[in-house]
Amino acid sequence: MSIAKVEPLTTARALRGPFDYRLPEAMADLEVGSVVRVPFGRQRLLGVVVELAEASELPPERLAEPLEALEAGTPAELVRLGLWVAREYCSTPSRGLQLVLPPGTGAAGQRVRSRLELRAEIAAPGEAALSGGERLGVKQRAVLEALRAGEMSAPELAAAVGADRGVLRRLEERGLIATCSSRVRRRSSHPEVGARGGRPELLPEQEAAVESIVAALDGEAGAPREQLLHGVTGSGKTEVYLAAVEAALARGKGAIVLVPEIGLAPQAVARFRARLGDRFAVLHSALPDGERYDEWRRLRSGEASVCVGPRSAVFAPLRDLGLIVIDEEHDASYKQDGDPCYDARAVARRRAAESGAVLVAGTATPRPESWLELPRLELPRRVDGQPMPPVAVLDMREADPRSGPLHPNTWEALEGVRAAGAKAIVMVNRRGFAPWLTCRSCGRHWSCPNCDVSLIVHRHSGRLVCHHCAHSEPLPRACAECGSTTLSRAGVGTEQIEALLGERLAPMPVFRLDADTAGARGAHARILAAFGEAESGILVGTQMVAKGHDFPEVTLSAILDADATLRFPDFRAAERTFAMVAQLAGRSGRGAAGGDVIVQTLAPTAPSIVHAAGHDAATFLAAEVERRRALRYPPFSHLTRIVLKAESEGRLDRAATELAQALMPVLPDGTDLLGPAPMFRVRNRHRRRLLLKASEREATIAVVRDTVERLAADRSLREVAISVDVDPQ
Ligand code: ADP
Ligand code: ZN
Ligand code: ZN
Repeated sequence: MSIAKVEPLTTARALRGPFDYRLPEAMADLEVGSVVRVPFGRQRLLGVVVELAEASELPPERLAEPLEALEAGTPAELVRLGLWVAREYCSTPSRGLQLVLPPGTGAAGQRVRSRLELRAEIAAPGEAALSGGERLGVKQRAVLEALRAGEMSAPELAAAVGADRGVLRRLEERGLIATCSSRVRRRSSHPEVGARGGRPELLPEQEAAVESIVAALDGEAGAPREQLLHGVTGSGKTEVYLAAVEAALARGKGAIVLVPEIGLAPQAVARFRARLGDRFAVLHSALPDGERYDEWRRLRSGEASVCVGPRSAVFAPLRDLGLIVIDEEHDASYKQDGDPCYDARAVARRRAAESGAVLVAGTATPRPESWLELPRLELPRRVDGQPMPPVAVLDMREADPRSGPLHPNTWEALEGVRAAGAKAIVMVNRRGFAPWLTCRSCGRHWSCPNCDVSLIVHRHSGRLVCHHCAHSEPLPRACAECGSTTLSRAGVGTEQIEALLGERLAPMPVFRLDADTAGARGAHARILAAFGEAESGILVGTQMVAKGHDFPEVTLSAILDADATLRFPDFRAAERTFAMVAQLAGRSGRGAAGGDVIVQTLAPTAPSIVHAAGHDAATFLAAEVERRRALRYPPFSHLTRIVLKAESEGRLDRAATELAQALMPVLPDGTDLLGPAPMFRVRNRHRRRLLLKASEREATIAVVRDTVERLAADRSLREVAISVDVDPQ
């Protein structure tokens, strides 16, 4: 008898498999990774086969049989990876497995299938009927005539001769045609743009990097299996990835290329497609389920062997994985927000190690972790031989407040861009018009009723908007407390800068790129394309404007509030600020005209700003690594954050204290427990945070998992939501 151990796909934390099912003869070919529908108590659930066994500990008569097996399952290797993610990030097996299943397979049981298409071809009696004057309807004759030239699909026949399914069925009944269903790929809705094809001759540094990666692919002794490709912006990293992917393909291996969420711009996708053609698949959560499912199947079947996508593509079902590339490895979008809060970079390392693949993490601004842990390949200069653009740091503490959010030198530089008919990029960290609204008479301040934060003025939509929940309200004309109409807006956001630039620099067009303008599908790409096609212009926006794109006509990039990210109470604040400034600087001067960079800041002496201005990642990172060592921050310790949320503050405090007390005695030696500390209220829920700083990663995670599970099962704390984030960002 064979037994399948099945992990049910359910959101219930308490329901923990795997559970044994008896396999009937007809399901003898089930494998680890097969998705089955199983009876479970009075319900029917989808589940994943996580193991096959000869015998069960339960007597056979107590075992049920699966009801059916679904069309496609997941490779066994990915089942192991999904279960590893569940353990490593304190989640449930079900949530871990969800990550590796075919797209559209959900706990609720809904699923996507391959699209089948009816195809018809003419049979010998059909040929005879045409020439032999047999009685045929007009449509029937037209179909046979059309099929003489070769087989066609039902939709094609409908379009060509107006024949519906009924006509085809009758022809088939008479034996005049033969039909079959075949799987078809849904048409891609990913926006496409033309790409520069061609394969440039690599520079010696690029060549050396490729050689080192290829040596690892070939398993040469001493070649590192994980490497950091540290290359300044515009140094040709993508060409190195492409060459490495081609080398993997030439060895019969597949490759995954991870890109930041935003890096899936059509230009980048088109570049890969142009070089790799049909062997290339995109997996992107923004694709409709059907398309994603087709791409997944192409990878699973081996029809495609390179996958490009954001963090979830680390779970792409490739066979014979040879290479994983992580482009812009510093990017925060590699960390998943919701449970399981996995870090695709860590998952990629795990997957590469398990499958014997080579890992390459590339960026101009590495994370201190990668800098410390990975051997480096360096691309120290730009491909075009241009020097890195000079960076001017403008001290806003000394600027005349009457001149507004732009320093006079910034205005002057922008006017220079207009005079030259060139382009500029201007970055502001906040979207909206102004982050604060207050009454000048009574001092009333508008904040969110559900969250402890200010409401942001959005002039475009005429509303006050909370950036943490869905709350918004009309912009008031007068103060609700005192009736005064003198309301003051303080601080700046992207909308305000857009308006200021538009007024003063007309007729130069201003394009705004932030979550408000790029929200709709395809809008992000459209805005970038419009900026790219414009004769001259300014692109204004949040951090989105600093990422990845390549516009040779940009001769100035400016950041107006470079210290906004420094003020976050987060040990990664310096690293983030460095990356942001360096990435923004990298957008300027990519063409023959060269370029300039302006950094406005209240903290001109902060190391992150000084070294970013000097294009000096090495000095910044060396100091940052030492700072982390001294303060015992990652990678010198492992952080785990536990957040508790509840509407009732009393219950919340009780739960937080209980959790801290339960953890204290069982945590491994060398683990610091910080908190419970209050966090600001969001969506009407109060929050408390516990932070663990651990030396022993696995043991600490295991203790947290058990303790949190125990507390979550306590019915008196039912209203308290507890979430765990391992390696929080
Ligand atoms: P990065 O990813 O480091 O920012 P890219 O790979 O996007 O850099 O390269 C920047 C530009 O230089 C691209 O337009 C690319 O086609 C071009 N390029 C890259 N390598 C070479 C090369 N060896 N010779 C000529 N052009 C190159
Ligand atoms: Zn007032
Ligand atoms: Zn809110």
